[in-house]
Amino acid sequence: MAAMLEEAGVEPTAVRLAVARVLAGGEHALPAGDILRKVREAMPVNKVTLYRILDLFVRQGLASRHSSGDRAFRYCLGPRFSGRAHGHAYCLRCGRMECLPATGDLVDITALGRSLAMDVIGVEVRIDGICAACRRVAGAGGEGVAAEDGAVVDAVPGKN
Ligand SMILES: [Zn+2]
Ligand SMILES: [Zn+2]
Repeated sequence: MAAMLEEAGVEPTAVRLAVARVLAGGEHALPAGDILRKVREAMPVNKVTLYRILDLFVRQGLASRHSSGDRAFRYCLGPRFSGRAHGHAYCLRCGRMECLPATGDLVDITALGRSLAMDVIGVEVRIDGICAACRRVAGAGGEGVAAEDGAVVDAVPGKN
């Protein structure tokens, strides 16, 4: 991990390594608040320092930053760490953002570029919906909630 940071031109300090380990630790993109909590399990760090590290990581391709509607940005491993740009599935109910397979598996980038007459450099895929755990809770709560879920999902356009 230290070598990866150095390769990206980032000096591998203890705090930066702790942040990198948190990012590498799951299949979810996390809000800064969650990353802060997890890093603090390993060592003390203040919020400003963490945001600075996340900005640095995003600039150097170590982390990816993703918008999530009206909620906080989510961060996960960037292409430099994970070797792939990838899409996300976002739950509108609980805010969990799951990392999906490589974007190339979700979208035919070559065909997309052809149809747009564009050199496609990046594609951000975010699928909004209600996750399985939230659907189970909604199911237990009655039909009314389930119907409302359908309306929410249908109202979400494909693009941000
Ligand atoms: Zn959910
Ligand atoms: Zn991700």
